[in-house]
Amino acid sequence: MIRKLIGRVLRLKKHHGGGRVVIPLKRHGIHRNRLPSFALKTTDTLQAAGFEAFVVGGAVRDLLLGKDPKDFDVATSATPEEVHKLFRRSRIIGRRFRLVHVLYGDETVEVSTFRGSGESLTDAAGRIIRDNTWGSQEDDAKRRDFTVNALFYDPNREEIIDYHGGVADIEKKCMTMIGPPAVRYREDPVRMLRAVRLAAKLGLSIDATTRKPIRELANLLENVPSSRLFDEMLKLLFSGQSWACLMQLRDEGLHHGFFPLLDKMMKMPQGEAFLKTALQNTDKRISEDKPVSAGYVFAALLWLEVLDNWEARKKAGEKGMLALFAAIDEVEAVQEQKLAIPRRYGTAMKEIWTLQPRFEQRAGIKPFRLLESPRFRAGYDFLCLRASVGEVEQEMADWWTEFQNADNQRREAMLLRAPASEGGKKRRRRRGGARGDGDGAADEGQ
Ligand code: ATP
Ligand code: MG
Repeated sequence: MIRKLIGRVLRLKKHHGGGRVVIPLKRHGIHRNRLPSFALKTTDTLQAAGFEAFVVGGAVRDLLLGKDPKDFDVATSATPEEVHKLFRRSRIIGRRFRLVHVLYGDETVEVSTFRGSGESLTDAAGRIIRDNTWGSQEDDAKRRDFTVNALFYDPNREEIIDYHGGVADIEKKCMTMIGPPAVRYREDPVRMLRAVRLAAKLGLSIDATTRKPIRELANLLENVPSSRLFDEMLKLLFSGQSWACLMQLRDEGLHHGFFPLLDKMMKMPQGEAFLKTALQNTDKRISEDKPVSAGYVFAALLWLEVLDNWEARKKAGEKGMLALFAAIDEVEAVQEQKLAIPRRYGTAMKEIWTLQPRFEQRAGIKPFRLLESPRFRAGYDFLCLRASVGEVEQEMADWWTEFQNADNQRREAMLLRAPASEGGKKRRRRRGGARGDGDGAADEGQ
């Protein structure tokens, strides 16, 4: 009895104190053939050259949870230079963390050298700024974030190496931080976002001790470079569970630093419904394997802010389209401080917004021109989103649905006689050519 108890305590200690536990195939059930050939080729090549090599992190976690991993990372005892030499199509990347990308057609395997946790460089706030000291597999496990993310799978032995009880946590469907959570969040505040995102995406709970310090430390996100926040935001929005993730972020008080406009948006009438519809559309498209455009999602996230600002400007006497451009600039400036949206997404987002007033124009040549706009589809999808929450008439969205699918004869018949607003034509003529963008009619939009 006592021996049994001691045995149990020792086993527990082994799990949570960081001892090496080998989990055999018959317990975890992941056969080598569950991995794609490019991942196997990477570990096989490294092992054949005498190095240790394991599939690691999110891929092992996802396989154990019965989900398809979206990418495969490999951890090895080889240095980046040694890895690079073994793979003709590879390159060393990164400064903060140096690692190697091994390329196979469209696929990339990220290979990182076992990293030591001892001598990383931290700043005054305890944040890790450089971390290129190599270590053992055990060191590498320890510097990872959650126990479920610190599992190593050896495809040749079909074994999982577990230092922190990650397999047990997967069975319990629970995310637990390795080490003292508050310290680990201070080292890297993005871990708080990862906790929430991964929990929502994978349907895991966050262990109480791991969860507790988050609310208190949420403001540390203010010091995270906006490019990293943006990367995390993208992962969240395209996780397939973006609405659940966002709600959980709000519950944990993490959205202030991360997505400052969310607060305000949620308080606006229709705000929550608008966001919810937009994100659930996105989640649905992802579950159906359809493409989603980041520009569209960002356009949705920030639209109500733009709309609010635009309405205020119009009330103050600014002209429609110019007021919209000014509103866009202002919202962008506020958002930029927190979430630097790279130009390639930002441009699409702004085009979607500026197309909106043009949907109001349903007479003359304008609808035909709009149809030819390269961003028509995204703009139209966005119009449907607005209609679905009652922000514009459903009738207008339906009109465009029919118009784009109709033949030319039908299209001609569909055109409205008078421009969207009475007298719009006259006013437009008077101002004729003043702005020279050839799209004066849009001024009358909304
Ligand atoms: P996803 O499914 O979103 O890719 P992931 O866990 O694989 O989730 P990655 O960003 O691909 O996330 O990271 C790969 C692995 O690197 C993680 O599983 C984890 O072990 C480790 N890792 C990533 N970010 C951190 C971090 N901020 N702190 C500690 N370890 C991290
Ligand atoms: Mg990953």
